[in-house]
Amino acid sequence: MKLVVATNNRNKFFEINEKMAGIGGLELIPLSAFATAPEVREDRDTFEGNAGKKALEISAHTGLPALADDSGLAVDALGGRPGVFSARYGGPGKTDRERCLLLLDELNGIEDAKRSARFVCVIAIAFPDGEIHMARGECEGIIAHEPKGEMGFGYDPVFYLPGMHKTMAEIPMGEKNKISHRARALDGAREILKSIMERQDAEGPIR
Ligand code: IMP
Repeated sequence: MKLVVATNNRNKFFEINEKMAGIGGLELIPLSAFATAPEVREDRDTFEGNAGKKALEISAHTGLPALADDSGLAVDALGGRPGVFSARYGGPGKTDRERCLLLLDELNGIEDAKRSARFVCVIAIAFPDGEIHMARGECEGIIAHEPKGEMGFGYDPVFYLPGMHKTMAEIPMGEKNKISHRARALDGAREILKSIMERQDAEGPIR
């Protein structure tokens, strides 16, 4: 079964490809193989909504099953913000560091016990006929008082992992890829794809 990975981010494609290695009969195809693929607007108010919309639109366009993800940071003291707006928090044109500093500003004066947050990742797998499957992964932490660490991206420098006594930007990528929201969602997606492939073996191609 061919599966289009609906991302233009090469690193994400490689991470997904690595996770799905060894699922017999599954071939991942990058979105870049489809020159006319539409740019899908992420305008839903949930991670499931955005990931599902992306997977369904790319599947409908290519006529192949498609996998898409959406992720972000949900801070409890902010009622779950920035959430689906994580990439655009504070408006367009900001750097990752500026977004981290804005978050620290918003949480100024809030005690540690109320700084809980989680990274969330949802992966959707959709078929041209509208069949859709979702996997969700979360990673719990607290928002630090200052940025720390040089690794990772996005909100990693302000996302403190109490169990590791480090921010996400202080742990190497290999370690992050074991505990991250994306890794957990991909584990779920791997199980879904395995059972889809088993179903196809038993019943023939789904579509
Ligand atoms: P997207 O789903 O790849 O568009 O990611 C949305 C935004 O969430 C990113 O631009 C980051 O700001 C944030 N984000 C998602 N995953 C991570 C992560 O692993 N570390 C830090 N920030 C993240």
